[in-house]
Order: sequence, then structure tokens, then C-alpha cells
Amino acid sequence: MPTVIVIGDGPGGLSAALFLAKNKIDVMVFGQDTTAMHYAQLRNYLGIPEIAGAEFQKIARDQAIGVGARLRNERVDEISGKQGKFQVSLESGERLHAKYLVLSEGKGPKLAKQLGLAFDEGKGIATDRNARTTLDGVYVVGRSARPGRSQAIISAGDGAAAAIDILSIEAGHDVLDWDEPPKPA
Ligand SMILES: Cc1cc2nc3c(=O)[nH]c(=O)nc-3n(C[C@H](O)[C@H](O)[C@H](O)COP(=O)(O)OP(=O)(O)OC[C@H]3O[C@@H](n4cnc5c(N)ncnc54)[C@H](O)[C@@H]3O)c2cc1C
Repeated sequence: MPTVIVIGDGPGGLSAALFLAKNKIDVMVFGQDTTAMHYAQLRNYLGIPEIAGAEFQKIARDQAIGVGARLRNERVDEISGKQGKFQVSLESGERLHAKYLVLSEGKGPKLAKQLGLAFDEGKGIATDRNARTTLDGVYVVGRSARPGRSQAIISAGDGAAAAIDILSIEAGHDVLDWDEPPKPA
């Protein structure tokens, strides 16, 4: 059983997966690479002067897989359950369980609504600054939480915040995911 299931493979979902997998949390991402990023030409992602959205997605997917995230090219049909044991049902009929859910469904957060989270067309799904929702263990990131603020770097930041929150809960203290360059010989 993965510890975290991420639904959505745009910048929000992949960023959450990167931070979690890099810190040895078992994370599985569901999505079919149908993100709006394929229509974007990014010139506003700090640190990357310009890149086609499709190329960004390829790098991001490889980066998350490279640190151990499992990406599954499947659609999730239904989610249910509560903190500690969520159930995720796939189109194929397969069912999986996870301790946490990170929902990064983009502009139409059907599954979040299915869980009972209220969606406002203008404001999206209410979350705190760590992407926590009113349901313990359920995080909503990116466009679903900020429909009027749809930018790749904001979604990626939300995903990172959700992941660091989960890492901190699991560790029992605040976690900083900091790396340093190799020391000169
Ligand atoms: C024409 C165009 C140009 C743009 N240009 C820019 C730009 O220059 N700069 C910029 O910052 N942003 C740009 N954007 C916006 C950018 O693409 C979005 O902000 C970004 O994609 C949002 O990321 P996200 O992770 O929140 O959601 P999304 O990227 O929408 O990802 C959601 C993913 O979840 C998947 N999903 C949903 N439900 C399920 C389910 N049940 N099971 C499995 N998978 C599911 C979807 O298929 C999708 O792949 C542009 C968008 C468009 C359309």
C-alpha cells in the first residue's frame, strides 16, 4: 500500500510526488498526461528562462520517477474513506489504499467534490497554506484550489507545501528538504 496517493500528474501532483519520493515516502501518482501544460510555453517559471510546457512535463515526470515515485497512467474513478485509510478505485476496477491523498485534478476537481469538499467556482476548494483541506489527510493543490490563479509555479509550490506537511507529520517535527553541493576535495 503506498503511503500517499497523488491524483493528477500536472505540476502540482508531480511536485508533491518529487518531495515525497525523494524523502523515501512510498508515493503513487495517477494521471494520463493530459495536463494543460501541453498547451503552454513557459516564460514565467523562475530559474527556467523559457521552455515548452510539454518538455517541462517530460523533465518533471522523469525527475519524480528518478527519485522513486511510481507513476501510473490510469484514471481514478472514485475515492472514499477517512484519515489513515483512503480507498482509491481505478477505471480498471482495481482498488488501492493510502494513508494520505493529494488531489491535483486541475480545473475540474470531481473527486474532491465526491469526498464532500465544497467547491466555489471563483475560489476553488478551501485549503490552508499547507494545502490541507477540512478533511484530515486530504490535500488539494494547484488549479483546483485556486482556479483564478492558474500558474505552473503556483501549482508546483502548492504540491511542495503539501508534501512537506506530510513529511513533517510523519517525522513528528518540521522537516526541511535541504540539500548542499558536494564539498570540494
Ligand atoms: C494555452 C495555455 C497556456 C498556458 N500558459 C501558461 C504559462 O505561460 N505559464 C504558466 O505558469 N501557466 C500557463 N498555463 C497554465 C498551466 O498549464 C496550469 O497552471 C497548470 O497546468 C496547473 O497545474 P495543476 O497541476 O494545478 O493542474 P493540471 O496541470 O490541470 O493537472 C491536472 C491533471 O490531473 C489529471 N486528472 C484529473 N482528474 C484525474 C483523475 N480522476 N484520475 C487521474 N488523473 C486525473 C488531469 O488529466 C491532468 O493531467 C497555460 C495553460 C493553457 C491552457
